[in-house]
Amino acid sequence: MLQTAQETIREAARHVGVDEKIVDALLEAEAEHVFELEVSDKKYPAYRVQHSSKLGPYKGGIRFHPQVSLDEVRALATLMTFKTAAVGLPLGGGKGGVAVDVRSLSQIEIEQLARAYSRHLAPHIGSKKDIPAPDVNTNAQIMDWMADELEQASGAADPGSFTGKSMGRGGSEGRQAATGRGGAIVLGEYLRTKNLADKPLTVAVQGFGNVGYFFVKALHEMYPNLRVIAVSNSKSTWLKPGGIYVDADSQNVERPEVMASLKDISLLPRDAILGVKADILVLAALEDAVNSTNMHDVKADVVVELANGPITKSAEVYLLDKNVVIIPDIVANAGGVIVSCLEWQQNVRGERWTELAVNKMLYGMLMRAAHSMIEYAKVHNRSLKQAAFELALMRLTMEIGDGKN
Ligand code: NAD
Repeated sequence: MLQTAQETIREAARHVGVDEKIVDALLEAEAEHVFELEVSDKKYPAYRVQHSSKLGPYKGGIRFHPQVSLDEVRALATLMTFKTAAVGLPLGGGKGGVAVDVRSLSQIEIEQLARAYSRHLAPHIGSKKDIPAPDVNTNAQIMDWMADELEQASGAADPGSFTGKSMGRGGSEGRQAATGRGGAIVLGEYLRTKNLADKPLTVAVQGFGNVGYFFVKALHEMYPNLRVIAVSNSKSTWLKPGGIYVDADSQNVERPEVMASLKDISLLPRDAILGVKADILVLAALEDAVNSTNMHDVKADVVVELANGPITKSAEVYLLDKNVVIIPDIVANAGGVIVSCLEWQQNVRGERWTELAVNKMLYGMLMRAAHSMIEYAKVHNRSLKQAAFELALMRLTMEIGDGKN
């Protein structure tokens, strides 16, 4: 993923004429924290990569997963820098993680790990320096523990130091649904520009966790003509050509039993989702999901990257050659970081905004970002991914030119 991200950025730089030395500097992280955390006599490698603060404080999630590595965190931190720039936020890019299988830990041990992570990084985190958020296997409770530990370590209140917190600790309305909702907004804007928004198109969604669930829910609300005919998770694919309608009021995002109880639904192997005959394929599970071994299976005309880096470079080249449109992650899944930014702004100003206000701002910001990307791609004959990265690169390098770094 790191290689794919860097190749994409170098290609963008060549196209917009940014000097190689400036790109080299931009690809270099400003700071990397590599350390070890000890819980119940076991040691866990931990990382925080602070990639770029050219446009504002570092921003990016913290994941707890056995496969977390320095390279993965570097790649995700780099993507965050380009994501915040692509959607015009006053934030930079960062990412963190701990290589741990949380299923092997008790709740108390998870709290100890979260607090130890925050304590170790206390001098480097805060609402003006670096603002972490939840990512894979981390949640509002973990952010609350980390924010609390940071305040204890620094001895000062800093409500905007973490985002994705619980509502009681200053979390924002609309944050949980924001990434999925944002994906629906960006897809809708793409279809609108192609005069397809009113057509009865079909959709398949890989990954039915937080992002996939709220994407499907928002799609039902905003574009009822788009029919979700298949969804998958880490075990199975469910296919129902008549359309899968999730329980709109459910807070439970992973409900295989609901799927299994639906009529006329087929249960297929997990990876069958990629080959489902749907107009739109949404990737909301994990990185490198479409790669050189399975790229030939993809039947959709439009693929939406809701996970980070779900298509490898070789698969991207293959799909573009087949005229498949890829709506890139740095815009498609930016809803989460946009509402994180809104949470940070509410905390810093001591305000609390309604869900309606937050959703309106999310809509406006993403529509503008999606629109600029689509227009730029059209005018310069670039793919949407190239357009998003080139626009982000221009924002980042203009800041360098201004001497703000
Ligand atoms: P999640 O853990 O809630 O859900 C992940 C889903 O993917 C689950 O349904 C899981 O069963 C499924 N899955 C795992 N392996 C799979 C496989 N091999 N095939 C099919 N499905 C599989 O995570 P999430 O918060 O929904 O995030 C999904 C992706 O989106 C991640 O890559 C994450 O980094 C990215 N992302 C999330 C956010 C956010 O705000 N949550 C923001 C930006 C990007």
